[in-house]
This record gives sequence, structure tokens and C-alpha cells, in this order.
Amino acid sequence: VHPTSERRPHAITVQSENTSYSDDFITAKFVNRGSSVNIVDGQYIVKPVAQEYELQTQRKVSKTGLMMIGLGGNNGSTLCATILANRHQITWHTKEGLQTPNYIGSLLRASTFSIGADATGQDIHVPVSDLLPMVHPNDLVLGGWDISGVPMDKAMSRSKVLDYDLQRQVAPHMALLGKPLPSIYYPDFIAANQETRADNLIPGDDKQEHLEKIRGDIRKFKQDNQLDRVIVFWTANTERYADIIPGVNDTADNLLNAIKASHAEVSPSTVFAVAAILEGEPFINGAPQNTFVPGAIELAEREKSFIGGDDLKSGQTKLKSVLAEFLVNAGIKPLSIASYNHLGNNDGHNLSSERQFKSKEISKSSVVDDMVNANRLLYKAPEVGEKGVAIGKGEHPDHIVVIKYVPAVGDSKRAIDEYYSEIFCGGRSTINIFNECEDSLLATPLILDLAILAELLTRVQYRKAGEPEFNPLYSVLSLLSYMLKAPLVKPGTEVINSLNRQRNALEAFMKACLGLEGSSDLLLSTRLW
Ligand code: NAD
Repeated sequence: VHPTSERRPHAITVQSENTSYSDDFITAKFVNRGSSVNIVDGQYIVKPVAQEYELQTQRKVSKTGLMMIGLGGNNGSTLCATILANRHQITWHTKEGLQTPNYIGSLLRASTFSIGADATGQDIHVPVSDLLPMVHPNDLVLGGWDISGVPMDKAMSRSKVLDYDLQRQVAPHMALLGKPLPSIYYPDFIAANQETRADNLIPGDDKQEHLEKIRGDIRKFKQDNQLDRVIVFWTANTERYADIIPGVNDTADNLLNAIKASHAEVSPSTVFAVAAILEGEPFINGAPQNTFVPGAIELAEREKSFIGGDDLKSGQTKLKSVLAEFLVNAGIKPLSIASYNHLGNNDGHNLSSERQFKSKEISKSSVVDDMVNANRLLYKAPEVGEKGVAIGKGEHPDHIVVIKYVPAVGDSKRAIDEYYSEIFCGGRSTINIFNECEDSLLATPLILDLAILAELLTRVQYRKAGEPEFNPLYSVLSLLSYMLKAPLVKPGTEVINSLNRQRNALEAFMKACLGLEGSSDLLLSTRLW
């Protein structure tokens, strides 16, 4: 029994005519309020709108497996070792003293939401993970694939992330995980410097056979461990972008045919995504490449499977999505944002290759777009062409991203950012940030949050007032955006990069599942007599 799992799973009860509990479900009525705006003769005509929904959350948490692609890498091995340390309550000595395992850095396990105020007006904060029934990370069944066949205890020591005293004690548990399942390796997609690792491969070059083997691996893992749900998670090396080619990967059927024909432009990560989609299990992309080519998104929609991505938002970008928003929302105008990184782990080695760096550069670049678009007082809007279509992106701060491989610093990434801004009446302000962090120790809790939230979202269904049937959520899980650098959203809808807005969305959604209105920072009673 894990000490943390002993908590009562449903410690929060909402007493309201809008919220009902059965043995199987929490069902809540929720009114989605907004306003619609029309521009008529140079005036904004605003009309409040409201749509009633019912949200139904299955109370029984799925027995969940987490299958990682890249299991033997820094993130994969660190995730396994830290879960095992938590599960077995292993403590270890560092030069600071005795260290106990924890889940610091996890939004779900180490942060709180306010659920209201008590009689004295004090806010009551609860762990995010107590709001709705969720998988405990200690209970995740771990497995996955790697092109490197090094057993998991050795993979952990190769990663050089965890303290020796922890490695020493957790190694026997890691050894029980054995070696990762063989994987698919198409050398054109990751850096040539990774070739020496590739000794654990599914034979042949028939992509259809590869797809079937991966699907079989997922099914077997599910069956062997008696699981209800498997989350398939790409935490393998960053691939180059795949070209989007009409007739190859632009539609679901074309993509399936391209796999049958072993087309060169189908990447390993897309084969894994298609395998998970066809198995009806959620797939999350923790790296920046365009795994979700249009055909993969269409396939997920068609199969009503869940997907989420792209790229973990662990350090520099997370800070940027807060800092850029702070500046723009304060009415200050960033003119340039210059970001430098250097790191010395295997991820850095792979990213030292141009085409793989390009994927990372793209995913790091768009992070300030929505903040800039929301403030046309500071930044000129794009010109509008003949048919009312915007030409270009409009005014935008200069933004560069540089990544260099410096082996000596290992997993301890250094990020240097300069924010150069225009302030009052022609003044200038420069903010410099130097951020040093253990890359994999920032990334691991994000992988856990993504996997656990994805499992939760598979158990939530909705119906509009008057509709007979409940439906699953839309396939692209944009509610995962808080943990992702370049959030994938429903095609045609706006990407939200602001970290605060992403967190608020999650809070509002989880509360809606309980029939509670979103967070009330209005605190009206404190403003009145
Ligand atoms: P890593 O190089 O230590 O691990 C990646 C693993 O993937 C390696 O063990 C490699 O052998 C394996 N691999 C490569 N191609 C594979 C394939 N086709 N099938 C199966 N396994 C394959 O890297 P890491 O530090 O663990 O990072 C993993 C990924 O997460 C990278 O793409 C990185 O860019 C991304 N990421 C990491 C962070 C972070 O903070 N650590 C943040 C954002 C994104």
C-alpha cells in the first residue's frame, strides 16, 4: 500500500442540485458563459451567450500503463527510477542530508486549486489531484521501447541524472524492468550521432509490419498487466520534421496507405502515433517534431482516439510564456527576445544536428504569438488583403533561439534569455535571465501530469442540454497545453500559450466536472461593505 494512495479518493463532495453522484459517475450541469461580438458600423456589439452542458466523469480510475518510446533515455529512466523510489519509499543521502522521494514539479501532485472560502472568508486550497478521481503516479505500470537495448538499471546510470545513493538503492528495482522492447529506427529522422545506440531494433524495413508489431506490443502489455488503459508517450529523440506531401500524409487514408507502401516520409513517431490511435489508446508527443501530420489528426478524429502534444514545456519556454505575457499585459513592448541554451546530455547531442535543431527551434518560436496578437495597441496588426485575409503576421518582437551542445554540463541545462523592451516615452528596459536546471528532473513530473490527465480526460463525457447521448471529448486534448511547448489544438482554433490561461482552463474544466463555476478572483465580498 502506498502511503499517498491511502487518502480518501473522493474527499470533495459538492452539494448542489447541479451535481449528482452515483456509484459510477459524477454528473454535473455546467453553463458555459461567454459573449459574442459583432462589428457593426465601427461599433462592437456584444451579446452575452450561455450554453448548458452536462459533464459526466467516470469515478473508477483506470488501471493504467505508461509505455514510453525512448524508455532508456534520460527522461524515461529518470521517470521509472523516481516512481520506484516513491513507490518503495526509498530515502537517500546527499551532501544536504537525507532526501525523501516526492513529486515536486507536478502540477497535479504539488500544486493546489481553491475550491471556495470557509465561514471566515479564508480560501480553502486542495491538491489538484483531489479534485477528481485520478491515477496515482505510484500506481502506473511502466514499460516501453528503445532503440538502445541497455537494461533499465544501466540506462539509469548512463543518464547521470540521479544521485549515486539513490541509483544504488533503486537499481535492483530498475533491473526488474529488464530491457526496453525493440523499436523502429529510420536513421534519416534522428541525428547520425545516435547510430551507435541503435542495437535493439525490430527487424526489416516494412513499415506496415512495424505498425502491426507496435500494435501487438501495446495489446500484449495491456493484457499481461491486466490494464484498462495504456498511455503511449514519445520521449525519444527529437526527429526532423516530416514533409507534408499531398497523397502521402495529408489524410487518414493516405497516411495508412503510405505506411503500407513503406513511404520514406513516414517517421517512427508517426508510426507509433498511428499504432496507439488504432488501438484506441491516448498518444502524447513529448518532443517537437510534427508527428501529428494532418493524416494522423484526421485518423484520431475518425477513430475517436485521443492525442496530445507537442514537446514538453519544462524550463526556458515555460518562463517565457509567463514573462512575455507579464510584459505585454503590463503595457510594456518587448522588442526582442534572444534565447541561448547549452546542454550536454544525449538530447543536446541529437539537437546539435541541424535538421533536429530546426524542429526544436520551431516549437520554441511561436510561444509569444498569442500575447502579441492580443495587444494591437503595442504591435501593429497585419495588413488586410483584398478578401479580408491578413497578410503576414503583423508586427512582432525579434525572437531567436540558439542551442549548443556542451558535453561537460551533462543534464544540467543552462538557458540565457534577454528581454529587450520599449518602455514609457522612448525608454528601454533589458531583463536578463540565467536559468540553470536539471533537464530531466523538470521533464519527468510533466510526463506524469500529461499521462495522468490524459487518462482522466478519457473518462469525461459531455452532452449539450437536450442531447440524448454523452460523447467523449474532442480527440486533440488541448487541455494538456500547460505542460506542452507548442500545444496542439483543434485545427482552426487559436493556440493559447499563456501559462496562466492554460492553468485557468484546466482549473475551470475540472471544476465544471464538479458543477462548480471557474475560479473567482473577483472576490466580490471583499470589495463591498
Ligand atoms: P535522451 O536522448 O536521453 O533519450 C531519448 C531516448 O530515445 C534514447 O534512449 C534513444 O535511444 C531513444 N530513441 C531514439 N529514437 C528512438 C526510436 N525510434 N524508438 C525508440 N527509442 C528511440 O533524451 P531525453 O533527455 O530523455 O529527452 C527525450 C525527448 O524529450 C527529446 O526529444 C527531448 O527534446 C524532449 N524534451 C526534453 C525536455 C527535458 O527537459 N528533458 C524538454 C522538452 C522536450
